[in-house]
Amino acid sequence: MVSLTIYGGIKEIGGNKILLEDNGTKIFLDFGMSFKRRQEYFEEFLTPRTANGIGDFLALNLIPDINGIYREDLIEHLGRKPEHPDVRGVILSHAHADHANYISFLHKDIPIYCSETSKSILDAVDEQSQRNIENEVINFKKRPLYRHEYKNPPTERVFNTFRTGKKILIDSLEIEPIHVDHSLPGAYGLIVHTSEGSIVYTGDLRMHGIHAKMTNDFINSSKEVKPIGMITEGTRINIKKTNESEQKVYQKSKKEISKNKKLSIIDFNFKDIDRFTTFYRIAKDLDKKLVISFKHACFLERYHKDKKLKSPNSKDENILILKPKRLTGTYIDEDYTDMYIKKRLNYPNIITTEEITKKPNNYMVVLNFYYFNMLIDLKPNGGIYIHSLSEPFNEEMEISFERMKAWIRHFNLKFVQSHCSGHINGTDLKELINTVTPKVLFPIHTEHPGIFRTLSMQTRMIKEGKEYKL
Ligand SMILES: [Zn+2]
Ligand SMILES: [Zn+2]
Repeated sequence: MVSLTIYGGIKEIGGNKILLEDNGTKIFLDFGMSFKRRQEYFEEFLTPRTANGIGDFLALNLIPDINGIYREDLIEHLGRKPEHPDVRGVILSHAHADHANYISFLHKDIPIYCSETSKSILDAVDEQSQRNIENEVINFKKRPLYRHEYKNPPTERVFNTFRTGKKILIDSLEIEPIHVDHSLPGAYGLIVHTSEGSIVYTGDLRMHGIHAKMTNDFINSSKEVKPIGMITEGTRINIKKTNESEQKVYQKSKKEISKNKKLSIIDFNFKDIDRFTTFYRIAKDLDKKLVISFKHACFLERYHKDKKLKSPNSKDENILILKPKRLTGTYIDEDYTDMYIKKRLNYPNIITTEEITKKPNNYMVVLNFYYFNMLIDLKPNGGIYIHSLSEPFNEEMEISFERMKAWIRHFNLKFVQSHCSGHINGTDLKELINTVTPKVLFPIHTEHPGIFRTLSMQTRMIKEGKEYKL
């Protein structure tokens, strides 16, 4: 008997946690963090208590209470007896937090299967983040953390990485990961061959990106197996066909930057190598230097090692790294305690805001909103700000967006929106589903599951924690 039980991504974008069971073999497809649900209860200064382990998460239903999947230390901390893990692995579609982050809570003996690139991204995130119970994906420190235990080495998780063409065998299950195009590299759709037939999981994907061919490979393979079930993302099922593309982002941004005779500030997601490449190309074309952060360098160096991604290194001649002010504000080496900065302080291509202000037109500075206080030192009177991210889609984002606009006004910057989405539009998605024609459709990762009802196939409106037999 084959069944699916879905614990996240229902009427929300992300938080995917899909339990697949075949004759007693259990695996999870993704184990992500649900931002929306977390935000219902928590905000900046009201957060889950680390001292309560997973207690706060379970009490508020932010993670499912399933026997034998969570870390022994967290279970004991709750006053429960250790539980033996009977889940044989988590297959991760890609390294976005809404698919990966709650691996942090899982038992160390549950192996994680992910693409080589996803592992690199998770390593980069790990390198530049402060340890926190919600981001202990790579390794974890046993809780409760007593003072003397801070020094103990963390417990490493078991990772098995794959590339396109490799299959994963878990008992009688065969999992075939097939590359797809998304807003970060190393994203995969999954085809799981079970005793009853094949089940397809899209992960997150799109058709309008540079690597649409990869998504097509996934569609073709999915169609061939005549799936008995398909779990599909539906982030933008409510959006009709668009004419967005990475090339359009390149053209619009380049036009704006070349017209601008002052400083250009850009914001995009570090994980998105295609977007990085877009701005790197523009910088080269316009004979400017692209200024990135030390955090960004953690990603870029790993991408550079992956020959397939054709990414420049962080020490590339067209790239500079912006040194932030810390402690004394005088840029002396002693000011830097974060390892990811400390180990890169000797790079030859480090620059400060003071140097940039001497010839602002020579630079394109990648600056995330959270570092906007550096605008005070960059003094960009005039110039442009390219927002190469999605527009706000919830109340909290609207509030941040307004705050961001206040900075833009204060520094007299021209605001330019230049972006294309990481997700397939509704028209393309309906076509994809009609091509694959699964027996039963399970829409997740969407706020509009009802729209899928208009398709001419059996569609389940998923109930959380309900077991669906296939
Ligand atoms: Zn997602
Ligand atoms: Zn994603």
